[in-house]
Amino acid sequence: MTSQQIRQQFLDFFQSKGHLIVPSAPIVLKDDPTLMFNNSGMAQFKEFFLGNGTPKSKRVADTQKCLRVSGKHNDLEEVGIDTYHHTMFEMLGNWSFGDYFKKEAIHWAWELLTEVYKIDKDILYVTVFEGSKEENVPFDQEAYDIWKSLISEDRILLGNKKDNFWEMGDQGPCGPCSEIHVDIRSAEEKAKQPGRELVNSDHPHVVEIWNNVFMEFNRKADGSLEKLPAQHVDTGMGFERLCMVLQGVQSNYDTDVFGPLIQKIEAVTHKKYTKDNASEDEEKTNIAIRVIADHVRAVAFAIADGQLPSNTAAGYVIRRILRRAIRYGFTFLNTKEAFIYKLVETLAEQMGTAFPEIRKQQKLVENVIREEENSFLRTLDQGLQLLDNVIDETQGEVVSGVKAFELFDTFGFPKDLTGLILKEKGMSYDEEAFDKAMYEQKMRSRAASEVSKDDWQVLVDGNVETFVGYDLLVNEVKITRYRVV
Ligand code: ATP
Ligand code: MG
Ligand code: MG
Ligand code: MG
Repeated sequence: MTSQQIRQQFLDFFQSKGHLIVPSAPIVLKDDPTLMFNNSGMAQFKEFFLGNGTPKSKRVADTQKCLRVSGKHNDLEEVGIDTYHHTMFEMLGNWSFGDYFKKEAIHWAWELLTEVYKIDKDILYVTVFEGSKEENVPFDQEAYDIWKSLISEDRILLGNKKDNFWEMGDQGPCGPCSEIHVDIRSAEEKAKQPGRELVNSDHPHVVEIWNNVFMEFNRKADGSLEKLPAQHVDTGMGFERLCMVLQGVQSNYDTDVFGPLIQKIEAVTHKKYTKDNASEDEEKTNIAIRVIADHVRAVAFAIADGQLPSNTAAGYVIRRILRRAIRYGFTFLNTKEAFIYKLVETLAEQMGTAFPEIRKQQKLVENVIREEENSFLRTLDQGLQLLDNVIDETQGEVVSGVKAFELFDTFGFPKDLTGLILKEKGMSYDEEAFDKAMYEQKMRSRAASEVSKDDWQVLVDGNVETFVGYDLLVNEVKITRYRVV
C-alpha cells in the first residue's frame, strides 16, 4: 500500500463514520502568540475545547502538518539519530467535540487498524492511564474495560501521568489518554524479550503509533478536577510510523514517504544510504542523509506556508533547521555547494497531491533554500579561515574553548565541525571551557525569562503574559520567552 493510499484510507474511514474532513492548518501559526508552530492535530481546534467557538461539525478528521522543534515538544536532537522522530510529520487525527466518547473512539481505532489496515493483532499493545493519587485523578477503568473486550489483557498496560494524561496547561481541559503501540521486531527478537517490557522504552521497533485523548475533566485554579459538561475526543496518529508498519519496514526512512528523497540525496551527493547492517562510518552517512531528508520537509513546508527563514522568531527556527541540514551535508557528505534546494522538486512530486501548497510554491521554496544555502556556505568558509588562524595561534594541541565558542556564537560556526576539523589535524579544543562559556551565555539570556513547558501558556487572572521574543538559545533553536506583567 502506498503512503497516499494509507492517508486516504484513514480519511475515508472517518468520513464513513460521519466525520467532516478538513484541511491541515498551516504549520506556522500567525495568530497565536503562545505557540510558534503547529505541534499537534488539535492545535487548530483548541478554542472549541475551551468553549470559545462552535465547530462546523461535531466530528472532524484530517491530517495535520506538525513541527516539533521547540517548547514542550522538541524532538530535534533525536531526528536522524533515531528512525521514528521527525521535525515535520503528519498527524492523522479524528475529533469529537462533545459528541462520541471513549467507546466509539476505541472501537473505531481498533476497526481501522485491524480490519481496514489489517494489522496483525499480535503486534499491538495498548496503554491505559493508571491514575494518580497525589493529583487526585482516577484510574481509567472505562477505557480499560472497552479494551478488554477487544484485546487480551496481557496486551493492556497501565501508563503513568507523563505518557497517559494530557493537560492543556496548569488549568483547563485535561484527561486520560490511551495509546496504541506496535512491536515490529523479528520473531527471533520477540522470543528473547516480551514486547510489553519495551513499550515506551525508546526501542526503535516497539513504537507508539496512536494517541487517543479523552478530554473528560477541567482543572480548576485550585488544582482540583471537575467533570467537563461536554466531553471530547482528540486523537493523533503518526502517519510516517503507520506507513512503516503497513509497508513492513523497520524505519520511517524506508517507507515511500522518504524513499524518493533519499534516492535524490544519493544521486546528488554520490553517497550511499545503507539500509541494513551499517558499519560505524556508514551510519554517520546514514544519519546525515536522514537529517537532510527530514529537514528539507520542515523547511520547505514552512516556506510554502509563508514563513521565510530570518533572524527572528519562527523564521529563525526555520533558518537553524536548514543550517543544521547544510552542516550535516558539509561535514559528513562532503557537499560544498548548494544542493538541498534540488530536493524540493522530489518533495513536490511526492506530497503535492495531499498538500498542493508545496507544488504551488515550489519555485519560491527552491529559490529561498538555494540563497540560504549559498550564504551559509560562505559563513562556513569564513569560519574555516578563522579557525585556521586560531590553530596557527595555538601552542600545543588543544585550542582554547573560549575561542571555539566565539566561532560558534559570533559566526554560527558549529562546534561539531570545529571538533572534526581539529581531529583531522590531531588536535582538539577545550570542551569544558566551551561548555562553560555556553552555559554562562545561556544564563545571561535566561535571566528574567521563563521557559514554556506546556502546550500553551494559560493566561491567569490579572497576570497577562506578554510575548517578548524568541531569543533564548536551547538545543540550537531559539525558544519562546514570556514575561509576566
Ligand atoms: P513519542 O513518545 O514517540 O515521542 P509522543 O507521545 O510525544 O510520541 P503524541 O504527542 O502522543 O506523541 O503524538 C501523537 C502521535 O504522533 C504519536 O503517537 C506518534 O505516532 C506521532 N509522533 C509524535 N512525535 C512525532 C515525531 N517527532 N515524529 C513523527 N511522529 C511523531
Ligand atoms: Mg514525544
Ligand atoms: Mg509518547
Ligand atoms: Mg503520546
